[in-house]
Amino acid sequence: MAVTRTFSIIKPDATRRNLTGAVTKKLEDAGLRVVASKRIHMSREQAEGFYAVHKERPFFGELVEFMISGPVVVQVLEGEDAVPANRKVMGATNPADADEGTIRKEFAESIEANSVHGSDSDENAANEIAFFFNEDEIVG
Ligand code: ADP
Ligand code: MG
Repeated sequence: MAVTRTFSIIKPDATRRNLTGAVTKKLEDAGLRVVASKRIHMSREQAEGFYAVHKERPFFGELVEFMISGPVVVQVLEGEDAVPANRKVMGATNPADADEGTIRKEFAESIEANSVHGSDSDENAANEIAFFFNEDEIVG
């Protein structure tokens, strides 16, 4: 085990319902430390760039509309094996399949409006962190 970083987004459905603190508490209770955080309203270009890997999927257009429908909170999380630790506390993409106690089970509205994003590999985490943060904005 090693201390690593991952990238998280608290999505518009969660900020709209004032759940920034509740989601962050779940992350912290899972052993993750917020070492960078900012509330932003993504531009269409940012959302399309961020989700470029999903460009061919049928839900891409709707996903981009959703991600720019309100503010989000982008975060860098640090902890032991941060990528899998965050994926575990997030729960399955579809909240109907998410385990008890996970963020998506407790808070997600639908498979699309599922409250959080989390990186799926260390390599993607590094790229996603660099997409939104300068190194001097990350304070571990
Ligand atoms: P995850 O966020 O769990 O890594 P994916 O990377 O597969 O899931 O998908 C990215 C995001 O796209 C999801 O979090 C969700 O907001 C949206 N999404 C995924 N599958 C669907 C779907 N079938 N219909 C609508 N939106 C979806
Ligand atoms: Mg994903």
